[in-house]
Amino acid sequence: MAEQEAEQEHEHVRVAVIGSGFGGLGAAVRLRREGITDFVVLERASAVGGTWRDNSYPGCACDVPSHLYSFSFAPNPDWPRTFSGQEKIHDYLEHVADVFRIRPHIRFDSEVKQARWDAEKLWWVVETTRGTLTADVVVSATGPLSDPKVPDIPGLDTFEGKVFHSARWDHDYDLRGKRVAVIGTGASAIQIVPAVQKQVGRLTLFQRTPPWVMPRADRNITRAERWLHRQLPFTTQARRGILWGIRELQVQAFTKRPEELGLVERIARANMHRAVKDPALRAKLTPDYRIGCKRILLSNTYYPALAQPNVDVVASGLKEVRGNTLVAADGSEAEVDAIVFGTGFHVTDMPIADRIVGADGDTLMQSWKNGMKALRGATAAGFPNFMTVIGPNTGLGNSSMILMIESQLNYLADYMRQLHVLGGRVALTPRESAVTGWNNRVQDRMKRTVWNTGGCDSWYLDANGVNTTVWPGTTTEFRQATRHVDVGEYEVVRPAPAAPAAKKSAPTKTARTKKKVEAA
Ligand code: NAP
Repeated sequence: MAEQEAEQEHEHVRVAVIGSGFGGLGAAVRLRREGITDFVVLERASAVGGTWRDNSYPGCACDVPSHLYSFSFAPNPDWPRTFSGQEKIHDYLEHVADVFRIRPHIRFDSEVKQARWDAEKLWWVVETTRGTLTADVVVSATGPLSDPKVPDIPGLDTFEGKVFHSARWDHDYDLRGKRVAVIGTGASAIQIVPAVQKQVGRLTLFQRTPPWVMPRADRNITRAERWLHRQLPFTTQARRGILWGIRELQVQAFTKRPEELGLVERIARANMHRAVKDPALRAKLTPDYRIGCKRILLSNTYYPALAQPNVDVVASGLKEVRGNTLVAADGSEAEVDAIVFGTGFHVTDMPIADRIVGADGDTLMQSWKNGMKALRGATAAGFPNFMTVIGPNTGLGNSSMILMIESQLNYLADYMRQLHVLGGRVALTPRESAVTGWNNRVQDRMKRTVWNTGGCDSWYLDANGVNTTVWPGTTTEFRQATRHVDVGEYEVVRPAPAAPAAKKSAPTKTARTKKKVEAA
């Protein structure tokens, strides 16, 4: 009786989606299109947009063209530039939330503290900062680039100036005339450097590994083009198709023939030589690994900014902070007023994984302690009715993640259909053998890719050096692999017949393993 009352205290939904970035909003639209309206989107912040809400640093923009970096079901004929800035992309996501009537489903300021699988009830108990609810299915769309990573630098707490991460920019802090250190040379840092170089007094860039930087073919999309896209929507589709096709061909070199990327290196080298005349600076900026091994960066302004007299490049990582002095691994020192960390995100150790507790009481983090793996990038063994959008090995080195997200949403839609067809209280849990088989095939293909053979260390690789982030194929291949849920890859779990004696006690591991498992 008490148990029943407790049940009724909590709202129950068919699906709880975590996050309202591209992945979460996309999942919400897709669920509605499947006729499912009994769902919530749990968002820890007070606005939608995910990484495009949080990253507001100066110069923030996407390096995938907007006509490709947008939902296929929500084309925007009015993209103002070939590569849009953060504000326009964030506006686009706000617009998607409105047009597809997602807002009533969103619970803002609701951070998921824990989601625990209840093996008796066959549902998830989701505790948020604004209360608890239960859900048949949980879709984690928190994204791999949501939790900033600041390296553990000895002495950082002794620094008296301003410190912030690229994804938590403090717009109230005035950089004008200040001595600023930028740590890192990834996609974020190389946009920040040219955006702030003119206003700061002195900029010191701590570069642990030089990136390959290609020219960026960025331009305004003309009024005539936009008019055409509005009048003839198929021209927007055609533009997207061309952008997609080029990248689909390029991926062959990344995944199968890294040796052919030498030609691309020549273009990147010329990009540097055009702007940097000082041979000593060129030497510092020249990478010693194959292009593509780390993410290829695009910029026409990064190298020119580094050649300015108020910029120093320290070709060494930040090792220590002593008061206001920053010390690099090579011993060089710089005194600064502010530190900007462009040091990336917790990608292979996503904090949300620590908050998802599966059927055996282990967290997803524990279950992934030897490396992240999920069936078709989505479902993990031991975690019934749980799916990750942008899960393990779904990242891309050279194309639009929105393509991968939409493939995963196809999989989600079919997953919901399969649950409906099975009927009643039911869960699907991926077979260990299916997850392992999928992962072995992915890792086998990974062996010859540039990410594994290019001679660099990158965030694509986890602590064991295994690439658990990138998809080693074309987006077409992934789309095919996720078109339908193969129910044979899952066990179908139904509630065990009620045993009066067992009813009052909390579920034990033995009770859980007694759950009736049907062969699919
Ligand atoms: P990131 O690619 O992970 O780069 C982190 C940088 O910090 C690396 O250069 C790393 O050096 C450096 N670093 C770490 N610890 C350091 C230390 N102690 N001293 C000096 N340097 C240190 O992070 P991110 O730039 O934020 O980009 C993350 C991802 O976000 C990108 O790969 C991309 O997918 C996405 N993004 C995209 C865009 C875009 O579309 N234009 C813009 C921003 C971000 P090592 O290389 O030696 O590890």
